[in-house]
Amino acid sequence: KGPDPDIPVLVERLKGVKHKILVLSGKGGVGKSTFSSQLTFILGSDENTRVGLIDVDICGPSIPKMMGCEDDQIHESSTGWEPVYVKENIAVMSVGFMLPTKGEAVIWRGPRKNGLIKQFLRDVDWTEDDEYLQEDNDEGEGGGGLEYLLFDTPPGTSDEHLSVVQFLKDSGIDGAILLTTPQEISLQDVRKELDFCRKAGIKVIGVVENMSGFVCPSCKKENTIFAPTTGGAKAMCLDLGYPYLGSIPLDPRIGKSCDSGLSFVETYPESPAANAYLEIVESI
Ligand code: ADP
Repeated sequence: KGPDPDIPVLVERLKGVKHKILVLSGKGGVGKSTFSSQLTFILGSDENTRVGLIDVDICGPSIPKMMGCEDDQIHESSTGWEPVYVKENIAVMSVGFMLPTKGEAVIWRGPRKNGLIKQFLRDVDWTEDDEYLQEDNDEGEGGGGLEYLLFDTPPGTSDEHLSVVQFLKDSGIDGAILLTTPQEISLQDVRKELDFCRKAGIKVIGVVENMSGFVCPSCKKENTIFAPTTGGAKAMCLDLGYPYLGSIPLDPRIGKSCDSGLSFVETYPESPAANAYLEIVESI
């Protein structure tokens, strides 16, 4: 088989995207999509920073709900697919926007998922209706105009990850952020993700420990729900020589914000979890 003719098209399409970052986790349910959506909101809180979020969790897309745009649909224009805009500077793409009903299951095998991810990367026009890009173009910079393109991936290392890595090989990936809970079983799987990154040549931006500790609202005492391993992610990073980005406590209001499609940090700015999020984003 010769070279894939779509790759140069895709590279051209993404050439103006400054940073491409994957969000990974070894296990499901550790808060990866929550982190991806909140990271998008935080980066996009500066209206001059244009952020795109691609949900490549084809079989379990939760990003449209978490970003508050699940009733939206994508449109096709002469220049490609137009993503859903949550704000003028935040754009989202997900298979969730293509399903006729919310409860519909996507039961696809690898090649079909692979095809859709390629279409997302090749055909989505992140510049549509974009006044900043016009300015960029006037200055001769052109193309894309996104500061960040984030990828929310399914748990583990599956077809979707391989597709993203394969398609972005020539276009470049800045690195990956890995999510884990403090539980040993999740840490075990994060080691596999680290190994995947090493084999795929993807830089590890760092590891985030989510759901580490819970302050009881009535007695104010902190409980380590996943004791005794809280802090395990940090120890693992030290041991293996990877950057540790920080920990986010358990806070039920995070789930509430996500269910309502809101930015947690903007809704509960004074909370320890909001501070934790901001510190982590600062260190990326
Ligand atoms: P994943 O993408 O890893 O499968 P999700 O982001 O869907 O996980 O999160 C799983 C559940 O945990 C969701 O109900 C979410 O609201 C909740 N959650 C995530 N992080 C936290 C946290 N720090 N505190 C409380 N709940 C959280």
